[in-house]
Amino acid sequence: MRASNRRKSDQKRNIGKVALERFATIQLGVLAVAAFLFFGREALPASSAATLTVIHYVLTCVGMTLSAWFNRSRVFYVLLLLLLVQTADGWPVPAGLDPFVFGMALYYFSCLLPFITILVLAFVRERGLLSPGGKVIGGFILLQLMFAAVVIMSQDKDMLALINREILFPPDIARQTPVPFTPLAVAFVAFAMLGCKQLLKKSPVENAFFYVLPVLAAAFHFKSAPIASPLFFATAGAMLMIATIKESYALAYLDELTGLPGRRALQDEMAQLGDIYTIAMVDIDYFKKFNDKYGHDVGDDALRLVSAMAKEIKGGGHAFRYGGEEFAVLFAGKGLEEALPFLEELREQIARRPFFLRVKQVGEKRLSITVSIGAAEKAPGHKLPEEVLKAADEALYRAKGNGRNCVCS
Ligand code: GH3
Ligand code: MG
Ligand code: MG
Repeated sequence: MRASNRRKSDQKRNIGKVALERFATIQLGVLAVAAFLFFGREALPASSAATLTVIHYVLTCVGMTLSAWFNRSRVFYVLLLLLLVQTADGWPVPAGLDPFVFGMALYYFSCLLPFITILVLAFVRERGLLSPGGKVIGGFILLQLMFAAVVIMSQDKDMLALINREILFPPDIARQTPVPFTPLAVAFVAFAMLGCKQLLKKSPVENAFFYVLPVLAAAFHFKSAPIASPLFFATAGAMLMIATIKESYALAYLDELTGLPGRRALQDEMAQLGDIYTIAMVDIDYFKKFNDKYGHDVGDDALRLVSAMAKEIKGGGHAFRYGGEEFAVLFAGKGLEEALPFLEELREQIARRPFFLRVKQVGEKRLSITVSIGAAEKAPGHKLPEEVLKAADEALYRAKGNGRNCVCS
């Protein structure tokens, strides 16, 4: 049995909105700033490259500390690799090696390893830094580095030729850039795959990976411009650090099942309320029976549907998952009279919205869900928002007593 509440027409209508929400992130802004700085580099002071190198190291160290702190292995290892790649530029040529081949080999692997790593890690679940899964990722990075070291030290020209073998792009296009063919192809495939993945799933880290790819491509393509490497590496470091902060925020504040802000976020927002506000408690009716009849997974889908609708509540209401099948809605700056029509609209929309359940053999079955809502505004007798929330809870209790699928205050 599979539940489906998303109809095809809805999906088409929403795809533009989803694309905008997934791609127009802060990372796009960071990318735009980097592009602006790069193309206006003539106007920057001569010391910019050195300053940006320091910024890159600082961002990388902060990013690695944060990702280790929050146990995020994917960002940690990509940052570590980028740090190695950027320092590689200044490595001395070991005695007995041809400096030209050595430099070329370093450049080839500097281009190749980050793209392969991002492509693989974008499709691996986060399992923590020190868990067995995290160690496997660490081992994968180490293996790549060991392989690169062997090829670089042995000056294996056949292997280098293989990395620069024509693949995916026609030679006349690929020859427009010094980036070797294989890294170029891997970057292109990773960019296309991650672009598609953005539409399916919202993940700050994968969004950062998506934007880091063109940033690294720019670092490698413009390698002869002195500012390119420090600027683009600093940009990639900033993107990954932002992703770590966003992901740890989501871990602490967002409810995993519904994506709505959770109880902690509600408490934070309640602490910032002024003198006029309304709090509503929304509770799904007979949800236990719903779960018992259709199963927990279908119940989860129903919860997601109600959450998505609560998130869209009008009138400036902010929805939170309070716990279980209960939601809280805050109307800062709005009294009860003003908030009630929006709550009534939400209740009605949920009751009217069909919920389709796909049952093998039988086909689609139409279900409906209702919610009861209790609301209360801050009265002179209320000292704390928690007291208003309690009053809303009492109103909810009355709504249940009135036969459910109604709003009480
Ligand atoms: P009422 O109309 O009085 O609110 O009845 P109810 O059955 O909705 O309320 P009750 O508190 O008895 O049951 C709440 C149910 O919500 C019990 C639990 O199984 C279900 N529930 C809570 N959290 C989740 C969840 O995350 N997923 C699913 N599928 N069910 C959940
Ligand atoms: Mg309940
Ligand atoms: Mg309930």
